[in-house]
Amino acid sequence: MPEIKQLLPHVVNKIAAGEVVERPASMVKELVENAIDAGADRVDVVLREGGTAEVRVVDNGCGISPDQLLLAVTSHATSKIQSDDDLFDVSTLGFRGEALASIGSVSHLKLRSRVATSDAGAELQVDGGSIGTVTPTAAAVGTTVSVSDLFFNTPVRRKFLRTIRTELGHCIETVTRLALAHPQIHFSLTHDDRLLHDLPPVSELRDRIAHFFGQPLAEGLLEISSQEGDIAVTGYVAHPQNSRSHTKMQYLILGGRFIRDRSLQHALSEAYRGLLLRGRYPICFLQIEMPADQVDVNVHPTKLEVRFRDGQRLYRQMLSALRTRFLKANLNATLAPLGSAPHSTKQTASLPLGTASGSRDGMPNRAIPVNLHERKNLSSAEQDTSGEGEADLAAFSASAFSDANRKDTPHTAGQPINVDQHATVPAIQVMDRYLIAESDNTVIVMDQHALHESILYEKLREKILSGPLDRQPLLVPEPVDLSADEAAALLDQRETLSQLGIEIEPFGGETVLLTGLPSLLAKQNRGKLLQSLAAQFASPGGTTERRDLLDELLHMVACKAAIKAGDVLATEEIQDLVAQRTESKTSHHCPHGRPTTLVLTREDLDRQFLRT
Ligand code: ADP
Ligand code: MG
Repeated sequence: MPEIKQLLPHVVNKIAAGEVVERPASMVKELVENAIDAGADRVDVVLREGGTAEVRVVDNGCGISPDQLLLAVTSHATSKIQSDDDLFDVSTLGFRGEALASIGSVSHLKLRSRVATSDAGAELQVDGGSIGTVTPTAAAVGTTVSVSDLFFNTPVRRKFLRTIRTELGHCIETVTRLALAHPQIHFSLTHDDRLLHDLPPVSELRDRIAHFFGQPLAEGLLEISSQEGDIAVTGYVAHPQNSRSHTKMQYLILGGRFIRDRSLQHALSEAYRGLLLRGRYPICFLQIEMPADQVDVNVHPTKLEVRFRDGQRLYRQMLSALRTRFLKANLNATLAPLGSAPHSTKQTASLPLGTASGSRDGMPNRAIPVNLHERKNLSSAEQDTSGEGEADLAAFSASAFSDANRKDTPHTAGQPINVDQHATVPAIQVMDRYLIAESDNTVIVMDQHALHESILYEKLREKILSGPLDRQPLLVPEPVDLSADEAAALLDQRETLSQLGIEIEPFGGETVLLTGLPSLLAKQNRGKLLQSLAAQFASPGGTTERRDLLDELLHMVACKAAIKAGDVLATEEIQDLVAQRTESKTSHHCPHGRPTTLVLTREDLDRQFLRT
């Protein structure tokens, strides 16, 4: 009979490490959380080789006194809770007391610290679980934890580490989450001696968002502020114009922690129902505050998921806060895109947001709901794609690329209005950005960029579905200069790019050689196209999953290649574009979900001029 033995502490730690330390990004999270718990207002994260060679976190927090250093690296030792009652009333980010012990058991860890009341600091080294002795050393007030050679003594786990680029991506995402949750703290992130992010403290979350995701996105955000009883939901959601093909830009923050919560993600999707095309997901940056006893954060080893005492209540509050906000923003009161049947414009009662914006006070009825028919396709169950697995290309073409989701769309716009047929005047361009055409008894206004983009997107998509894109090898390969980051990011996606007919090769240093291009894109400014693709890949919100990637790529390529607003078009170009639109099945929305076309029927105009 096998004998039962108590496991030795270092074995226990190694096992625990499997839960807490999965990759460099998990160390970044644990160490930065410790710094925040220590009251730091400045936290510097320094990485080497994506964090696999070293993760170092420097803070200016309260520090650890020399006599406590040993305890800090001992498992189940924490300064953050005293009794079991505290477990359900945690105000700190950590409290399990196992991060440092776990990390130390699978790496070389050096802990150096000084408290404000002492002029000297002390340090302690842990190598693969064996703890050294505390030695005095010079140090600034605060704590520096340096972790090198992760998993050096657990080769199996080391094998699970991915490319430096991928690990770096996870670390950047981790810092992004922490920095969004703590805008008042100064963060910096340095990789291989390159400063990637310097984030001085800001009083507005919006400024942090702008730093990470760009000013245009930040400016278009809608502010949310809802307080019901002791639960507050505040922050921002993006305008439906800004959506993603994944849910990764849904930042939910609870008590300073980034969390994932299916139910809340669902509430989000519900709120946007009818405002986004199928397969597109909202972006949000929402902070939830509630009394600590309303939520159990101790159900997940890294506290990524939590359990709410009354999840239903939070769900309802979030949904109603967003809906109310959308109503206020009048998101529902735009003219109908071509997608909704132009002849059912009187159908204002069934707005997605549950209001009838109609002819009140005898005023003319201006508002036509956004595409009512999209709603049918947004069954929430289908939307739940938060699973992070990598789908292969076959699965991708079967879902995102297939027309199945469009076939059951009952909109009459499936048969595009033939602009040319009964037009009495040719289409014209106004304001260097809109095209206006007349069809029988309707005036059609088209956004030239959105329209061209949707036509290109559809062409590319169809081509990819029906086989490999016909590519044009470049007679003279074109070198394109990028930043090191961007070059690496782009080369990481070589295979996927090749699916699209974009062939690249490393050319040494920060240069990438473009050797082939789909003939569809032959006329583009190639350097620019490649640069903007690379910049997108290298950005923290950038997609890394293959399935999303190809779709995102199509969007990007179509967007980059399309005529821009502001481009003056020749008469033939205008007629050409309008004619292509007529052939196109789905040109009523650009790939971002914006309408490409507004249709004004004669009744619409009559009503505007109070003729009815
Ligand atoms: P936990 O954070 O769950 O308490 P850790 O293993 O992460 O467990 O840390 C153990 C203890 O070490 C903490 O409770 C804290 O007292 C101390 N500590 C860790 N990092 C820091 C830091 N950066 N500044 C001050 N104290 C720290
Ligand atoms: Mg901790």
